[in-house]
Amino acid sequence: MQQFINVILPIPLEKLFTYAVSEAEADLLLPGMRVAVPFGKSKIYTALVSEIHHNPPTAYEAKEIDRILDGQVIVNETQLKHWQWIADYYMCTIGEVVRSALPSAFLLESETLILKNNYTAVDEGDLKDDEFLVFEALQHQSALKVHEVSTIVDRKNILPVLNRLLEKKIILLKEELHEQYRPKLVRYVALGETYRSEEKLEALLHSLTRAPKQSQVVLALFQLQAETKKPIKVSDLEKAGGASKAVIKSLIDKGILREYHIRTDRIGYEGTEGKEEIKALTEHQQLAIEDIQRHFDANKVTLLHGVTSSGKTEVYVKLIEDCLAVGRQALYLLPEIALTTQLIARLRHYFGEKISVYHSKYSIQERVEVWNNVLTKKSKAQIVIGARSSLFLPFSDLGLIIVDEEHEDSYKQFDPAPRYHARDAAIVLGNMHGAKILLGSATPSVETFYNTRIGKYGYASIDRRFGNVLMPDIELVDIKEQTRKKRMKGHFSERLLTEIQDALQLGEQIILFQNRRGYAPIVECTTCGHSPQCPNCDVSLTYHQYRKELRCHYCGHHIALPEGCEACGNPTLDTKGFGTEQVEQELSKLFAEVKVGRMDFDTTRGKYAYEKIITAFEQREMDILVGTQMLTKGLDFRNVGLVGVMNADSLLNFPDYRAHERCFQLLTQVSGRAGRTKKRGKVIVQTYNPYHEILKQVSTNDYEGMFKDQLYERQQYRYPPNNRIIKITFKHKEYNRVNEASEWFAKALRNILEGSILGPEFPPVARIRNQYLKHVMVKIPPRRSLSKTKASIKRIEKSFKAISQYRSIRVIYNVDHI
Ligand code: ADP
Ligand code: ZN
Repeated sequence: MQQFINVILPIPLEKLFTYAVSEAEADLLLPGMRVAVPFGKSKIYTALVSEIHHNPPTAYEAKEIDRILDGQVIVNETQLKHWQWIADYYMCTIGEVVRSALPSAFLLESETLILKNNYTAVDEGDLKDDEFLVFEALQHQSALKVHEVSTIVDRKNILPVLNRLLEKKIILLKEELHEQYRPKLVRYVALGETYRSEEKLEALLHSLTRAPKQSQVVLALFQLQAETKKPIKVSDLEKAGGASKAVIKSLIDKGILREYHIRTDRIGYEGTEGKEEIKALTEHQQLAIEDIQRHFDANKVTLLHGVTSSGKTEVYVKLIEDCLAVGRQALYLLPEIALTTQLIARLRHYFGEKISVYHSKYSIQERVEVWNNVLTKKSKAQIVIGARSSLFLPFSDLGLIIVDEEHEDSYKQFDPAPRYHARDAAIVLGNMHGAKILLGSATPSVETFYNTRIGKYGYASIDRRFGNVLMPDIELVDIKEQTRKKRMKGHFSERLLTEIQDALQLGEQIILFQNRRGYAPIVECTTCGHSPQCPNCDVSLTYHQYRKELRCHYCGHHIALPEGCEACGNPTLDTKGFGTEQVEQELSKLFAEVKVGRMDFDTTRGKYAYEKIITAFEQREMDILVGTQMLTKGLDFRNVGLVGVMNADSLLNFPDYRAHERCFQLLTQVSGRAGRTKKRGKVIVQTYNPYHEILKQVSTNDYEGMFKDQLYERQQYRYPPNNRIIKITFKHKEYNRVNEASEWFAKALRNILEGSILGPEFPPVARIRNQYLKHVMVKIPPRRSLSKTKASIKRIEKSFKAISQYRSIRVIYNVDHI
């Protein structure tokens, strides 16, 4: 009987596709293996098998697969189930989830190859210059890749020349699969079979008396083998025998040595066995862990609410140890930016080789290796520490998931789909595995804290710092008054300057926080008022003094700083507002002898740039570190006595229902970098609104007060946690079309979901990369079904897409938008 498979293609298709397979292929295949399949005109894609069955598709003739790519399952059943949940919940396709979930090396794609057509007789005189160049190259090389042709003709657009060559039947195109992952092979040598016995070896050495270099190598190999009783790497033999590559090669050629290769991992931590004993917990940590365990026993997701520097990490370590003791896997999730060598080194001290790290700065190859190690349950991947994408690894037996800094926004994927929240998706995954789930934070999200209050989640807390160091002393400084009294030096109040001086005198380090990069966000002509705008986005260009440039922070567009105003020509440009660059510059003028560093998006682009700054600061190569919110993520510096917040107001004035919560979290976290060891730390917060409730709550460490106020407001205005929200974004290059389309959609929504639709509204930056954006917010009250609402929205989208002028509008869903 003819057999079929349903496959998931890594592209946004609503339905799975069905392909025909032979009986023999069907016997080999299992859900979770990859196959290469033809799709569209001539493309070949990698797809994931989801089902094997006997039902031919009704709407089309099933094509045959190209080939089977795996000998075993690389995605397990739990993963498929979890990914389907993500697709359903976050309103995207399972193909989009697969595309995000699998390391890209697993997703082979066809790559066009250009071949010579051997059946055409070519008259070289008929060829144009560029055609001849390609033709000639094909005489020496059997196939060319697109980018190679591009180099040969020294041009990007090579379609015209390829088309002409195709018309003249001089070339052929071939779609070929291209394997991206190449395992790393290490060369080993052993003594050839015939020389294994002592007599034979002696005879061999005798025969080599006239080749002293060769006999030296043979002896060295013999010795190495006796000493290590392990396979010998060629590189080790080279070192030990002082032998050149040529000598070893001639021995291999003669059959005296035998060469072989072994696949090895690129990411090895040889020799880093867990050396350190796990720290004894303090009394407060111990009490917290008892609470946690009690909630775990009742199968509850649990929040560990521990103030900054209370030693949450040590509690996690203890829980991980317990998980390993019963032989299960542990996953430790962190926001990307908090995955520092600082923290990883700390955990390696305890668990050594059992830890694998997985995040976006890892290469394609390294990601595949971690994937395979988790898949085959290698002990070196028993603990995975990683950013949100590590949720997708092929765990088979998760016993513990820790979501550290659970309040972090960056856990929510913004673009592309799936727009999932890693904390929430982790809870679903944990439940599928029967794992224990711990969320940790010094400033929990309102949602999570609410869940503990209604008894849905367990709650444990540590309300004092390790070593009983006092919480930092936070002082609000009114810069409105200081400005009026002309007491400001640049952007520094007298209070802040005094504190900086004191700290420097005591040899303490200082962190200054300004949540804006560049020199100034606005450049303005003092004569005519004109300020340079981005041509692609509705936003003014930020001045970056370091490069003498104006830059768009949305699309990257940049121009050299103009000499005068573009509009009136007067050389009277001035700046408004300030960023980290300006703070850095003012500091170096105020404190000439002090070493100042800067940590923001611009200074941390390279692979290890971020690490280098942290290490330099740790080793006291800088006195003051100026930075954006990157500074707030879980860093543990020993010697910081003072934290200064240059301007808290920019955090308060966001048109967003979470702005206040976020402001509280950011300021509390950045304050938490002060005074982590012995002495109480000092924090100066500069603001024009010293009486703002949120700032008072930050300064008195009043989390509960913040929670109560925010919950009340959110209930009033029907936001989460009581209500759910789905944000729908409409995107198109034509302003009018976005307007009309979003109006149409919102009206249709209002017809069925009365009273809970906001918008359509333009966001503050209404055009990005020449695309206009408009939002509609759907609020779903607790009594209404979330899945039914989503189904209604999908039905509306169907009618919407049937209207021809709306077809090209992109509709983007963001479920639980934050
Ligand atoms: P948090 O994650 O809550 O901010 P950390 O886990 O980074 O706090 O702990 C702060 C500092 O206190 C770290 O340097 C840590 O090594 C130290 N520390 C915490 N708990 C203990 C303990 N029980 N014994 C020894 N040192 C501890
Ligand atoms: Zn732009």
